[in-house]
Amino acid sequence: MLAYTYKGKGELRTEEKPVPRLKGPRDAVVKVTLASVCTSDVHIKHGAVPRAVKGVTVGHEMVGVVTEVGSGVHDVAVGDRVCVNVETFCGECWFCRRGYVNNCTDENGGWALGCRIDGGLAEYVRVPFADTGLTRIPEGVGDEKALLAGDVLATGYWAVKVSGQEAGDTVLVIGAGPVGLCAAACAKIKSPCRIIVCEELEERRAFAKAFIPEAECVSPADMAKITRSLPRGGADRVLECGGTEQSFEAAWKYARPNASVVIAANYERPQVLPLPDMYGKNLTFITGGVDGCDCAEILRLIAEEGLDVSPLFTHTFPLREVERAFALFESRSDGVMKVAVKP
Ligand SMILES: [Zn+2]
Ligand SMILES: [Zn+2]
Repeated sequence: MLAYTYKGKGELRTEEKPVPRLKGPRDAVVKVTLASVCTSDVHIKHGAVPRAVKGVTVGHEMVGVVTEVGSGVHDVAVGDRVCVNVETFCGECWFCRRGYVNNCTDENGGWALGCRIDGGLAEYVRVPFADTGLTRIPEGVGDEKALLAGDVLATGYWAVKVSGQEAGDTVLVIGAGPVGLCAAACAKIKSPCRIIVCEELEERRAFAKAFIPEAECVSPADMAKITRSLPRGGADRVLECGGTEQSFEAAWKYARPNASVVIAANYERPQVLPLPDMYGKNLTFITGGVDGCDCAEILRLIAEEGLDVSPLFTHTFPLREVERAFALFESRSDGVMKVAVKP
C-alpha cells in the first residue's frame, strides 16, 4: 500500500509498505477513507518533533472503516465507520483515569500515531487501544464532517474546555488557522458575549469572517485598541493558536487580569514569559497538547448541534498525490486552510 513516510529531517516521501496487521489483542486495523495533513506533520518534517521516528508513516487525522480487530476489542467491530483519535491511550494508567490521556504512560500512549508508530496518510493504519482510540461515527455524519474530530477539532474543543469558558465571556482566539477556527467554532457553542479572532493575514481574516460571521476578525495592529475598549481590560479567555513569538506575546498582553490563557499552539522555538511585566496580572496559563478523549462528545455536537468545520477543507487530493497536498499545505498558498487526502 502507499504510505507517506518520514525519512529524516527535511524529507517526507511516498513509499510502498505492507498492509499493517494486528500486533496485540487491543489493536484494530482501519481502512482509511479520508485523511488530512496537519501542521504537526510539517513540524515533523522540520525536525521540530524530536520523538518522531525515521521511517514512520506520518498522518494522525483520519477516518475509515474497521477491517480487523483483536480479541480484546469490545467497543468497535469490523465494518464500523470510525474516527481515529490523534492520541492512543490505555484508559487505565493514573493519567488516563483522570482524562490526561496525552500523558498516558503506556509506550504506545499519547501522540504515537504518525509520530512514533505508523500513522494514517496511507491506505490502512493499525490503531493500538482501539476501544479508546476509535469512535464510531454517528449515522448521517459524512467523512469530511467527522475527519477533524480526532485532532484539530479536538484541540479546539479541549482549549475551550480547559479555559473554563462561561456564558457571557469575551473570548479572544489568536491565529485563524485550522486550530484557531476550530477553537472559535467550539467557543461559539458556549454563548460568549464576544468572539474576537486576531489574525495577521488579511486572507485568513476574511476566511474566518465567512466561517464564523458572529466573530470580530481583527489584525494584531487593531488588537491593542480593541483591548482598551473591553470592560475588564482584556479578554476573559485567550486561546493562543498562532504559534509565533508575536502571537505568544499577544496571548498574555490582551488577557484581562485573572484571565485564563490556553496555549494550544506548538512552537518551533522556545518562548519568553516576561514575568516582571506580567507580575500582578495573575494569569492562569494552560499549555497543550490536547487530551484527545472527547471524540464521542464532539461527534455528538456535529450530529446534533450543528458543529461543522468541514468548510475548512479548501482542497482535496488523492493519496498518490499526497506530496502535492503537503507542499500546498506547507506553502499556505492558494487560500489553503486544510487539505483532505483520499486513499
Ligand atoms: Zn495534528
Ligand atoms: Zn494510559
